[in-house]
Amino acid sequence: MKKTISLLLGVIFILSCFTAAFADAAPAGFGEYKHVFIIGIDGLGASFEKVDSPNFDRIFADNAYRYNAHTEYITTSAQNWGAILTGVPYDVHGMTNDTTDIRKPKRTSESDNNTIFYYTRQAMPDAKLLSLSHWLNINHGIIESDIGVSMVNRLSDPMIADAVCGAIQFNHVPELMFVQLDDVDHAAHTYGGFSDEYYAAAEKADDYLGMIYDVIEAKGLMKDSLFIVVADHGETAGGHGGQTVEESSALLAVAGHSVNKTVLGEEVRNRDVASIALHALGIEQPDHFESTVPEGLFGESREKTVEKPLEASVDTLWHNFLYSFVRFANIIVGLFDFIQL
Ligand SMILES: [Zn+2]
Repeated sequence: MKKTISLLLGVIFILSCFTAAFADAAPAGFGEYKHVFIIGIDGLGASFEKVDSPNFDRIFADNAYRYNAHTEYITTSAQNWGAILTGVPYDVHGMTNDTTDIRKPKRTSESDNNTIFYYTRQAMPDAKLLSLSHWLNINHGIIESDIGVSMVNRLSDPMIADAVCGAIQFNHVPELMFVQLDDVDHAAHTYGGFSDEYYAAAEKADDYLGMIYDVIEAKGLMKDSLFIVVADHGETAGGHGGQTVEESSALLAVAGHSVNKTVLGEEVRNRDVASIALHALGIEQPDHFESTVPEGLFGESREKTVEKPLEASVDTLWHNFLYSFVRFANIIVGLFDFIQL
């Protein structure tokens, strides 16, 4: 009997040693999140540093960010969204605005360099995956069409923001969600990257960011969600695509219960989103990835308080009426999305 007890105690001791070893081995933040929400703002660059962005400021005051993370060498949209979603640089994934165009075949999982949606699907066969995009190329030519990602396309940023909020309010809460807002880039293409209109569009993007975050927070999801904001590239007065500092700087910001309050290091790239998202969901990133979880991003889990949202600044009753009408129309249109989900 004594021998049996000693043997049993020995086995328990060895098992507890193994458990402790594995517990130590798990890097901070790994698998600590059930949901990852990625909000992509096309053409935003580092402009939240220059404009009033009260929502961004309150959400990330106690979290991690860098205004000027590195972009791909070519500062064009598909090159960067492709890298952000696949974790490899442009010269590896090869996607361009032309190859991802809706006149070209849809991208499938047969393509080389799959997206983080593909790896999430492999690890979690039943996961809800959702992509809502203003720019059609994202859901047509970048994210794989054959892995059960629910794809929603809208023709404006307010419509996208409403569709996101509607999905979450109606309890369609995905494990992984990607959102692409495009109005900031539109403003740059129409008025130039340093124009008042461009900066006004950036401020509007901050409104949508606040709307989306507050819906997630109100649902009680931030206790196990990671909220990421990322830009694909910046802009110049004459557009983008080149290698100027303005074009090659892009916001990367991460909020979550175990995210450290820090300014991320200067080596950080917008492409690192791919590693961060898989890491948070507890999925080992594939060996071929050329992205990393930024040093010092994750630490101890702790309680966080984000300031209450600010009052919406609506100029006139007419504006208010139009906005309510568009929102109502969006909700009706959105009901059809939920049927597909
Ligand atoms: Zn872009």
